[in-house]
Amino acid sequence: MPIPEFTAMAKRPAARKSAAKPGKRTPERPVRRHAARKAQTVRRGKQPAAAPPGAGGASQSASVRPTAGGPAASASATQSRKILAPPPPNRRLQIFATDPGSSRRLKTAFLNTATAEVPWETAPDSRSLLQPGPVGEYLEVVDVDPASGVAYEPVDLNHPFLLAQDGLPPSEGNPQFHQQMVYAVAMQTIRHFEQALGRRVLWAPRRIAQGQPVSADSASVAQTAAREAYVRRLRISPHGLRQANAYYSPQKAALLFGYFPAGDGSRRLVFTSLSHDIIAHETTHALLDGLHRRYQEPTNRDVLAFHEAFADIVAIFQHFTFPELLRFQIEQAHGDLRKGKLLAELAQEFGHTLGRTDALRSAIGTPPSPGDYAAATEPHDLGTVLVSAVFDAFLAIYARRVEDLLRIASGGSGILGAGALHPDLVGRLADEATRAARHVLTICIRALDYMPPVDPTFPEYLRALITADSDLVANDRYGYRVAFLEAFGNRGIIPNELHTLSVGSLRWQTLDEAAQPTGLGNFIRKEINISGDVQSDRYQSYLAARVNARKLHDWLDKELQPGIARALGLDRELAGPDKPDGYVGRRDCNGRPRFEVHSVRPARRSSPDGDIRTDIIAVITQHRDVTDDAGAVYTFRGGCTLVLDRREGMPPIRYSITKPVYSVADAKRVRNYQQTGLGLDLNALYFEDSQSEPFALLHSKF
Ligand SMILES: [Zn+2]
Repeated sequence: MPIPEFTAMAKRPAARKSAAKPGKRTPERPVRRHAARKAQTVRRGKQPAAAPPGAGGASQSASVRPTAGGPAASASATQSRKILAPPPPNRRLQIFATDPGSSRRLKTAFLNTATAEVPWETAPDSRSLLQPGPVGEYLEVVDVDPASGVAYEPVDLNHPFLLAQDGLPPSEGNPQFHQQMVYAVAMQTIRHFEQALGRRVLWAPRRIAQGQPVSADSASVAQTAAREAYVRRLRISPHGLRQANAYYSPQKAALLFGYFPAGDGSRRLVFTSLSHDIIAHETTHALLDGLHRRYQEPTNRDVLAFHEAFADIVAIFQHFTFPELLRFQIEQAHGDLRKGKLLAELAQEFGHTLGRTDALRSAIGTPPSPGDYAAATEPHDLGTVLVSAVFDAFLAIYARRVEDLLRIASGGSGILGAGALHPDLVGRLADEATRAARHVLTICIRALDYMPPVDPTFPEYLRALITADSDLVANDRYGYRVAFLEAFGNRGIIPNELHTLSVGSLRWQTLDEAAQPTGLGNFIRKEINISGDVQSDRYQSYLAARVNARKLHDWLDKELQPGIARALGLDRELAGPDKPDGYVGRRDCNGRPRFEVHSVRPARRSSPDGDIRTDIIAVITQHRDVTDDAGAVYTFRGGCTLVLDRREGMPPIRYSITKPVYSVADAKRVRNYQQTGLGLDLNALYFEDSQSEPFALLHSKF
């Protein structure tokens, strides 16, 4: 315990010094009062080290005044020390590692229980924040089954019996275990996001309708602010639907999990709230919506597929945090993870129950072909192309990381002989797989900060992945970036705008010196509050992001020259609407087109070399009204994500990831997409019925 030892050592000289000068009472007083208070704490807190009352120990010294050199002085010195008992960093909770079905197969039954380590939610005064439900800082599990009207008793994870045995044991028949499982997996997903992004995660704010349709872009920042409400907790209903579905509802800020008959002739029910993959997938939808609200709007065929694929990627790589399952896979696959099925296949039970031979969506799909990306159209199929590309990259990285181990284990050939692998080798291979998976998951989440605010595409995600990783890890020792480049290229996910394909050319480009707004560096250093990080209060982070957004908006409004605004994808021209395809839309009181700064948030990231960098991510959008060939008016959105650098002497805008709002071609492309084919279907589904649940509709295509 290095920290308590260090505290004790540091305090000793101070205590001796005060004891040696008994005449100077004034500076002593606070020390003594402090010691007395501590001694009382020791008594109440049943500290094992405390001596029994009357033995000159803790209880006595509270009333003993130290005298020079005497035994009381040394007793005081002893009592000024205390071993701190911080709250535990983690709460351990048992869960099903894959699906309950694996527990009914002898081969996998003993692997299917995993223990998830989730953050111990603590208030600033060290109280446990977690209430029965569980209801914590991020989540509230409310277990009411609307179909039957039954409300299940909430689980109290602070009950001593549950604390002593890592929560309830996995059980299909116990609704309280279902509550524990959704809480544990969702919290694990949240933790991965916070670690990768370097800040507290926030749920998408709730829009407040005021008797008329609300368009966020139609108001200034202040007006918009009044129409949004902070969402502290995401609500989770483990038995919220009686159907074969589970989804994230942006309107309710909730995750709803369904259950349904297995359909195998038995009376068995299948609960989606017992599938690790489905819980991780739905939680990811909510987290992604909190970061990029406009990714629900299908402006090109990749948008919805991206939401789906990203949710699957997080679910798959979270699997690799369960060591027993991973060791089993590596043993079964003889070290070659390409042959392993269990880990990569999502939602086994769900797929089997619906009569599919394969799992719901398998990441190990067909061998890669450059036509994959162009050929897929349906969101789930297209999403599978992206998931497969990321999984291919992971497999290549794993293979590279274990090359030397396999050579050592095989006497130089790299080809392992027949028979079971040595358990030590399995352990080492599992370690390497875990490390690679964690890194891939972190890169995938971190890349979200490098994505455009609207209209995302898969090739842009590749560029975001490469840029996010290059920014932090200068030396790509294990070839992660090349692995991504190759895997995406093999499935045809390539940015068309580039003439050459390399890690260097894929990085987002920085702005020219001339395009940097003068004075922006000073402004962000002085005015932007970046105190919110993974330790801070979430509501304060939310408020800070809002205040920062307003400040940045006001600064840009005053200082941004039209030419530089163009470089950021924005239109600040005073030209009238009569200009061909000029800006038509709302203008501010000075006659300039309005724009909106959505959020300005810090991103604290630590590199493998130990450097800690703090960047600022700002999301800006603008929209204009465009008249199509048929004379109908529609809304087209553009804008930029800015990655801002606070360091003195550096260009303030490191990257500007733009979707120009003035682009005539893009406005036509979006219109065409929304009017034809899939775009038309989705447009009808998403926009004409404001009561519809976008993710429910997407998932009902299971
Ligand atoms: Zn989904």
